[in-house]
Order: sequence, then structure tokens, then C-alpha cells
Amino acid sequence: MIPFNKSFIIGNELLYIEEAVKSGKISGDGIFTKKCQSFFQEKYQFPKVLLTTSCTDALEMAAILSNITSEDEVIVPAFTFVSTANAFVLRGAKIIFADSSIKNPNIDVDKIENLITSKTKAIVVVHYAGIACDMEKVMEIAKKYNLLVIEDAAQAIDSYYVFSDGTKRALGSIGHFAAFSFHETKNIISGEGGMLVINDQKYFDRAEIIREKGTNRSAFFRGEIDKYGWVDIGSSFLPSDIIAAFLFAQLEKFDVIQNKRITIWNKYFHELKELKDKGFIGIPQIPKYATNNAHMFYIICKDEAERSNLIDAMKSVEIYPVFHYTSLNKSQFYLETNESIDYINAEKFSDRLLRLPFFYELTNQEQEQVISTIKYFYFKSRI
Ligand SMILES: *Cc1c(COP(=O)(O)O)cnc(C)c1O
Repeated sequence: MIPFNKSFIIGNELLYIEEAVKSGKISGDGIFTKKCQSFFQEKYQFPKVLLTTSCTDALEMAAILSNITSEDEVIVPAFTFVSTANAFVLRGAKIIFADSSIKNPNIDVDKIENLITSKTKAIVVVHYAGIACDMEKVMEIAKKYNLLVIEDAAQAIDSYYVFSDGTKRALGSIGHFAAFSFHETKNIISGEGGMLVINDQKYFDRAEIIREKGTNRSAFFRGEIDKYGWVDIGSSFLPSDIIAAFLFAQLEKFDVIQNKRITIWNKYFHELKELKDKGFIGIPQIPKYATNNAHMFYIICKDEAERSNLIDAMKSVEIYPVFHYTSLNKSQFYLETNESIDYINAEKFSDRLLRLPFFYELTNQEQEQVISTIKYFYFKSRI
């Protein structure tokens, strides 16, 4: 059987967990947490990184840091995971959904400006499948209307935006805040896990406080103050050092993991291109302002019925592809208090996108089975 995803260990995960346990300190902000944070700060020139227990938590922290209140509107793509919206709903914000681009599931940047009102406080972008949104345009709009930008970079580790002058910057380093995930379905994993990237120094201190239950405990441990106490709102957003120990072992094998994933992605791309060229399916196209971190490989079927048939055909040989988000404008929760609006592109991706099995330990032979099953489905004869 070929599952959609499978968690994996690749190096010193268990050894480092043992080391953390033996060190006598497995609560948050231990040695491994610091090592992971430094790794990302150095590799991607992120000004400040804080590990969190999930990307969801990092988004919630970003919403608090953005001072979102019930007076505010936040622009969010309709085609995304619930956490992208929930983090801001928890602060009382009104969510204004934006449609996807016609070319890929990312937010249609040309539709953002029409959604801005005097109440708009922030734009949230999602780099779907690790492929950059057009950040130059997003930042231009944000600057013009004085809005905050939060990058939901859950899927976007090791992916870049290429500016029109040719310079590259890591996704997560462009908006005011970015949230990454190390959930077991992402490229680099720790089971559950995430991080918040803070790109503006003026938020550094408050971010630490919010993450530590609203206390200035982090400054206390650095010896900057002689006692700590309750100074702000907050929650417990920091992970155990056991989680960070697992994560750090993965970071030591970062290139091995990424090289393997790129190989898998390229094989899907080259093998399935024939079906695309014959007009059967859509496959991802990387815009010239983006790089590919091989987070996901999806195909776009002709319609929902065809996708169901393909899923059935694949399941009958024990291959388990999965579709993705129900466009959030169609969710039960949203429709309880909002009118139904159609988002044509987002709904197209809801109905027609199918994600193929993609994980570090996927073998060449397994991948060939996936590919030949799809080709057989479309060509209905052996190839
Ligand atoms: C995975 C994912 C999340 C949630 O990440 P967690 O670490 O599970 O909280 C949020 N947004 C997007 C776009 C995701 O893909």
C-alpha cells in the first residue's frame, strides 16, 4: 500500500531526544530549541525565529502581535487551511476572503486591492505547495494602504521569492511575520511543530512575552531583569525541547531531505507532463518569481467526478492520493454568519486538485506505480 504521507526519521532524532532527557531539562527553550532557531536565522537571514508547538500557534501569535481586534478586517485566501483564518477570528476579526489565482491556488494579487476598506488591518498570504505568492505586488499594496502582511509559510520552508531585480529572499522573510509548520506532512518534521519568524525588530520583545504566557520570563532568563511577572496577554506557545531535539536531527540532514524531495517532484513532473501536454490534466507551473521546495505534487483533474473516479482507481490498487481544502467560503462555520459568495478559482482547486503520495521514504518503484496507475486511468491501456 502506498499512503499519501508517512513520517520518518533520518538521523539522530532518537539520540538527541535521549540527550535532551538526560540533560535534565525538557521544557521549552532548551539547548535544542536554541540550536534550531539559530539554524533558521543563519540559513535564511531571518531576523528572529521562535519555535512554537505548531504553525497554528505561530499564526495566533502573529494575530496578537498585529493587534487585531473586532474592529478589524483581515484579507485571507479562501483556498487555505482553517488555521490561516481561525487565528484572526480568535481575535474577533472579520475575515474577507480572496479568490485564488487562475494559474495556481495562491491568492490572486490583482484582486486584493478591491477588498481593502478603512477597516482592513492585514493581508495573509499562503505560499501554497511552497510556491511563492507574488510578494513584490503584495508588499506594494500593503505599503500603499499601511497594512501588515503575514506569510502563512507552513509549506514553504527552503523556498524563495525572486525579485524583479533578480535578488532572492527566503519566503517568510518578506512580510512582517511568517508562520512555518513542522507537522509530519511537511518537508521537515517534528510530528507537530512550527515556528514564528519576526522580521521587524520592534515586535521582538512582545513576541517573547506572548509566547511565555504573557510574562517577561525570557528576559529574566537572560539576566536582563531580576524578577519576572505578568506583563501582557499570552499563552503557552513554546514546544518542549524533546520536539526541538527531533527537529534538530532533521535539520542536520536538511539537504539530504530536500534533494530527495526534489528528485521525487521532478520525476512526477517529467512523467506526467505527457498527460498535461495531451490536455488530460493540469500540473504545477513554477512562476518565474518563485523557486520550488518540492513540498507537494498535485494534478488538476477535469472535474470533481473525474477526480473521484481517479481516486477510486488508485485506491483499488492501494494507492492513497488526497484532495485538499474545501474553499473556506463554503465552510459550515463561515456560512453560519456570512452570505455565500462564489470564488471561482478557489472552488476549482477545491473540486479538482489531487495531491499524490509524497514523502521522504517514497521509493522509486512505488512512485512508478503511482505514475503508471494515473497514466493507465487516462489512457486506459498499458503503456
Ligand atoms: C499545515 C498547514 C497549517 C497548519 O500547520 P500546523 O503546524 O499543523 O498547525 C497552516 N497553514 C497551512 C497552509 C498548512 O499547510
